[in-house]
Amino acid sequence: MVLVGDDPASAVYVAKKEERAQRLGFARQSHRLPGAASTAEVLDRVDALNADDTIDGILVQLPLPPQVDAAAVLGRVRPDKDVDGFHVLNAGALAQGRPALVACTPLGVMRLLAWAGLSPAGLDAVVIGRSNIVGRPMAQLLEQAHATVTVCHSRTVGLRAHLRRAQLIVAAVGRPGAVGADDVADGAIVVDVGINRLGDGRLVGDVDFDAVAPRCRAITPVPGGVGPMTIAMLMENTTRAAELRQGRG
Ligand code: NAD
Repeated sequence: MVLVGDDPASAVYVAKKEERAQRLGFARQSHRLPGAASTAEVLDRVDALNADDTIDGILVQLPLPPQVDAAAVLGRVRPDKDVDGFHVLNAGALAQGRPALVACTPLGVMRLLAWAGLSPAGLDAVVIGRSNIVGRPMAQLLEQAHATVTVCHSRTVGLRAHLRRAQLIVAAVGRPGAVGADDVADGAIVVDVGINRLGDGRLVGDVDFDAVAPRCRAITPVPGGVGPMTIAMLMENTTRAAELRQGRG
């Protein structure tokens, strides 16, 4: 794991990933670089990890400080060690329906749905958010699981109308209350990816859980829903990367 700077939320995420890796018996290293590190310094560190044959998976914690070229860094991670699935080769493979290492959060959502016995096939699905990390790969995975997918975003006109006819909603916005009770059809499946810290310190998702839950067939809470799945999928991707590199994939 490579952590640049001292963003408090990133420190928490890295600590959770370290704890889970330790619990599962993974060997691990945390590389902490100062917040003023240059792109070249981060690339040097990634190069060293790329070349280290004892390392199967590399994770660069986002966000990177503004002076660091995040696209250059993510593009430098060897695709077969890219356990976050953010390299263009892995994103491209997913886009073509030949998933290799897939972004952990959307992968975790698919695993949750499967675990709950909720098949997306044939459902009208709405994904709110089009980031490379969550929204875009989420939409691709749902489409590949045979849902009919609408991607909504900050420039969508009439978001509520899209939501109200959805049988499956995945919210990945980063705004508390983005989905309220009146936005959701009865019996919908609602997956809340959002993580938002309120002024009083509480952690909430994008969905108004208490108001929406009574109308839903299934809903994920925040915290405790998608977040732990993201970490679980990171561990699975790392195992997969190790097996693939050993020719056992
Ligand atoms: P992002 O800021 O990159 O993307 C947010 C998306 O929301 C954008 O595509 C934007 O178009 C859309 N959006 C913004 N305002 C909107 C509006 N008013 N209506 C409709 N769409 C709107 O964020 P991200 O990295 O995709 O993360 C999204 C959320 O998911 C954040 O809260 C983040 O903390 C959380 N997250 C959670 C996990 C997890 O493990 N649970 C992992 C990654 C991200």
